[in-house]
Amino acid sequence: MIYLDNNATTPIDPGVREAMLPFLDENFGNPSSPHAPGRIAREAVEKARGQVADLLSARPDEIVFTSGGTESINTAIRGALAAQPGKRHVVTSSIEHSATKNLCEQLAREGCEVTWLRVDANGHPDMGEYRAALRDDTAIVSLVWANNETGVLFPIEEMARLADERRIVFHADAVQAAGKVPIDLSRVPVHLLALSAHKMHGPKSVGALFVRSGLGLPSLLLGGGQESGRRAGTENVAGIVGFGAAADLAKSALLPEMPRVTKLRDEFERGIRARFPQARFHGAPDNRLPNTSNFALSGLSATDLLAALDRLGVCCSVGSACVSGSPHASHVLRAMGVGDDEAKSSLRFSFSRMNTPDDVQGALAALDESARRLGLGD
Ligand SMILES: *Cc1c(COP(=O)(O)O)cnc(C)c1O
Repeated sequence: MIYLDNNATTPIDPGVREAMLPFLDENFGNPSSPHAPGRIAREAVEKARGQVADLLSARPDEIVFTSGGTESINTAIRGALAAQPGKRHVVTSSIEHSATKNLCEQLAREGCEVTWLRVDANGHPDMGEYRAALRDDTAIVSLVWANNETGVLFPIEEMARLADERRIVFHADAVQAAGKVPIDLSRVPVHLLALSAHKMHGPKSVGALFVRSGLGLPSLLLGGGQESGRRAGTENVAGIVGFGAAADLAKSALLPEMPRVTKLRDEFERGIRARFPQARFHGAPDNRLPNTSNFALSGLSATDLLAALDRLGVCCSVGSACVSGSPHASHVLRAMGVGDDEAKSSLRFSFSRMNTPDDVQGALAALDESARRLGLGD
């Protein structure tokens, strides 16, 4: 199998698995229990908190563990609105992950006013439009740092600074950015930031919300006093331990591995251009994640191509995994001005540090064969 769908989820790193096993086995204690097994679990959770904080250059007490990216995003946005009852305006963009998109659509139904920032053909926002969107009654700005479909990076440092100057809470969805580009929250005035373990070779259904110290954010879930009252529910200890190990590995792999991943992706794109002169690549070529490639092969159905590649053991994605199977063209590509037909012939390939040059050659050969079978080039 050649797995090139790492923006949907990543394989678990063997080091992460090793770290987790004792917590699925003999170390089963509840971190809230004041006895020996409880203390072992508590220490493991606190060690992981430090590891996740380190990845962001944050403080351990600024990390709240959650069930993943989706919960972190919901906690950030609903929390900011609940903490500022007089403010009912939300700024987001037209290319957000469905977690943010569907929540903000729901908030609009509940009476909030939502500003959806547009993007240009490269996937970039207009800074003039952004400045004009910030208002005295803006409760939160929530923007994706790196888009999951195209890999395009938003100028989050500058956007966070502008919100911070206006004393507006700024949330960044860094689920795709973390581990792929450096994130230094000691320099960037982001107030809230969402992470997910399974996008960085950790386990599924565990993530974190960075909450800058001093920011009072109510818990989305009510119950026990876990996570210093910021997220109720007994901790997913094994998952959190795995997340900590994944963050540690991501931090040490960032500088040595990302240039290698970039080379794999670029070699793949050169191969695509050579084989399919009609290929149209989506997203700013030099301002995107090192691992993501999204392009259209017009005249071909992306869902048919995905199925043909799957039969040859190559995994990729049409648009984003969360909308696979739905007949709608990707909202991200449409926001970038890509037509419906072109969007429906667009595929996403996403690499990771676990891929090899052989994967690139194998995927290109499989694409050749699949496209020929589907009648391209006849
Ligand atoms: C995957 C993803 C999410 C959701 O994270 P989960 O942990 O799967 O809930 C949010 N934002 C982006 C950009 C993502 O890629």
